[in-house]
Amino acid sequence: MLEQVTVPPLSLDAYAPQAGEEAIAEIRRLAAPLRDARILHVNATKFGGGVAEILPTLTALMRDAGLDAEWRIIPGDDPFFDVTKRIHNGLQGMEVPFGDDATGTFLKTSRTFGELFDGDYDFVVIHDPQPVAMRDLLPDAAGKWIWRCHIDLTAANRTVWGFLRPFVERYDAAIFTLPDYVQPDLELDRLAYIAPSIDPLSPKNALIEPRLAEDVVQRFGVDPHRPLLLQVSRFDPWKDPKGVIDAYRSVKREVPDVQLALVGSMATDDPEGWQLYKEVLRYAGTDPDLTLLTNLDGVGSLEVNAFQRSSEVVLQKSLREGFGLTVSEALWKGIPVVAGRVGGIPMQVGTNDEAGRLVDSVDEAAAGCVELLKDADLRQRLGATGRERVRKHFLSTRNLRDYLSLFTALKDGDDAYVPAGMGWTPPAG
Ligand code: UDP
Repeated sequence: MLEQVTVPPLSLDAYAPQAGEEAIAEIRRLAAPLRDARILHVNATKFGGGVAEILPTLTALMRDAGLDAEWRIIPGDDPFFDVTKRIHNGLQGMEVPFGDDATGTFLKTSRTFGELFDGDYDFVVIHDPQPVAMRDLLPDAAGKWIWRCHIDLTAANRTVWGFLRPFVERYDAAIFTLPDYVQPDLELDRLAYIAPSIDPLSPKNALIEPRLAEDVVQRFGVDPHRPLLLQVSRFDPWKDPKGVIDAYRSVKREVPDVQLALVGSMATDDPEGWQLYKEVLRYAGTDPDLTLLTNLDGVGSLEVNAFQRSSEVVLQKSLREGFGLTVSEALWKGIPVVAGRVGGIPMQVGTNDEAGRLVDSVDEAAAGCVELLKDADLRQRLGATGRERVRKHFLSTRNLRDYLSLFTALKDGDDAYVPAGMGWTPPAG
């Protein structure tokens, strides 16, 4: 059997104050005909990265809505995850070595997942490329199979995508975060566009006392009474941690008491992370106002929450970004962001800088930070707008609703149910 991840129960009704009674009622309406449907989510890791952040809430809320949902992970070893990281990097546009060795390792390990798969499900949702071959390996398995891609595919490497495409085409449907991510040669009739989401009640996002937030950052060596810039990201080249440090150094020339915290977790399916962490540590040097932390220092969800709330500005200087949960996490707390104009970030910030500053370079990132650090009213306004955008578009309840709509469409075999753009309409305000 694939390892099952334990998911603590949640109550949909508890989300009504944030999402609104009507949103909860709509979910219950959509869920009623799907009662007891067996749902399986499969991904590669139970810890680290956005997918592992979303699945506990989504699975638990599906259960509370009456579905029989579970979450399982594939096993894998470093050689396999080295290849899947190359696939991830290739899909985000990097030139990566991807020859017979790589595809051989991928296929060999994938076959072991196929053998571990057991059970009958009505809907199987396979997240990201690591387990993508499962449908191909199990053509007779029951149920509707959906591939959920969380990656920014705007500049996908043709070789890597070419390898993946036949596996994706075996599915009944695929979910992308944005229409821009769909490759022109993908032959699959049912496509859904669904934005990811954050859980407003999780330890990462729930309201905490300002005093507690102060205590937490102080414990990690940050002065709560001086301005703080923050980036929370895996140590991944696409998150541009060195660019963040460059921007901070430039900001410091204008705002001398500014501090920077870089908080980065290590995901179990990301062997590249340690290498980059060491490089970033060297790059950071011995600046006492620059703090580099990982989950291994004891920075868990509550601590990330505290850091985000204690920041004047949250950075997400990504060069590619499927969505970037950290952006919604900051905005939900009323903190404006300075973030790369890439992938799923503009839909969160607003293409006209409604909730922060979208940037294309280190210089622009630095300028955005200086502008916001010097203007508390502006920060307050952008933060308030950001929180409302997240409330309307990027909470778990909206994500759940969109999954239920897709399940309904697949169950009824009604293609008309899955119009292009389903699940996400550009936020107007
Ligand atoms: N995260 C965390 N601790 C860290 C780094 C990241 O808890 O040290 C969380 C972060 O708060 C967010 C998720 O990991 O919830 C990252 O998701 P995102 O979509 O931003 O990026 P991904 O890692 O999926 O590329």
